[in-house]
Amino acid sequence: MNIQKVGIVGAGQMGNGIAHVMALAGYDVLLTDVSADALEKAMIVMSGNLERQVSRGKITEDEHKNALAQITTTQKLSDLGDCDLIIESATERETVKQAIFEDLLPHLKPETILTSNTSSISITRLASRTDRPEKFMGFHFMNPVPIMQLVELIRGIATDEPTYNACKEVVERLNKTAASAEDFPAFIVNRILMPMINEAVYTLYEGVGSVKSIDDSMKLGANHPMGPLELADFIGLDTCLAIMNVLHDGLADTKYRPCPLLTKYVEAGWLGRKTQRGFYDYRGDVPVPTR
Ligand code: NAD
Repeated sequence: MNIQKVGIVGAGQMGNGIAHVMALAGYDVLLTDVSADALEKAMIVMSGNLERQVSRGKITEDEHKNALAQITTTQKLSDLGDCDLIIESATERETVKQAIFEDLLPHLKPETILTSNTSSISITRLASRTDRPEKFMGFHFMNPVPIMQLVELIRGIATDEPTYNACKEVVERLNKTAASAEDFPAFIVNRILMPMINEAVYTLYEGVGSVKSIDDSMKLGANHPMGPLELADFIGLDTCLAIMNVLHDGLADTKYRPCPLLTKYVEAGWLGRKTQRGFYDYRGDVPVPTR
């Protein structure tokens, strides 16, 4: 399978990171979103991030220019018809993802590979709603995409070997490392990471520590580069809650119940960095804990 053109659905923090690394690796990238604002913001963010890589000596000015030239944007899913690989990276809600695949399918070539960057939703179930479950996989990047080395590759029950191998080759061309995960709720990284973040929110909820003491404890006491609440803000609290709900529903174990305080932040629209407020308030010069 010769993959040259990649369609990315969803231009949020993950979609723009995926477009960035794909373009740098020489793929033609078509980035789509329902929101014109999101597409405009994504181009600005990618340009800024590429510029930073130039200033750090990681890439040349030419590579920066060439990468940006490889990326086009559209609000129409039907424009993705000639893509060889689709990476869906829209909001972490199953109904949203299903609707995207449903709208996209009539426009695609029969050989196009479909993938989702979902953090937790069943690949087998998403695949079963398409006309090509054997050409469907989980392609799970880590945040921030240009920096993080790992990509989890998740086979659905029907995924065939040529599809898996084609995706693995893409990961190699990105100079990243693939880890193979089975299709169970939240796969490997988030199965382990999210319960830790949720437990940090419980620790805050029960008054065991403040935002600052919890994050300081895990940074200085467990050598984590970021505290769990800082990390939750970085990931997006809506995404964290959605993943906990998938673990809770999918594994039917009360140990995965989302902390009510996490739900409350999401209901307030305090989703972390992307809305400028979460466990920290980012509207000033330095982040200020909100509890
Ligand atoms: P985000 O909220 O930053 O971006 C989501 C984007 O999807 C938005 O721009 C929104 O306008 C767009 N969107 C919503 N409905 C759409 C539709 N019908 N068609 C096209 N675009 C649509 O979210 P994100 O953090 O970029 O997460 C995207 C996906 O990546 C989710 O599945 C998430 O679980 C996964 N993921 C997130 C992280 C993380 O750390 N945030 C890490 C790995 C994977």
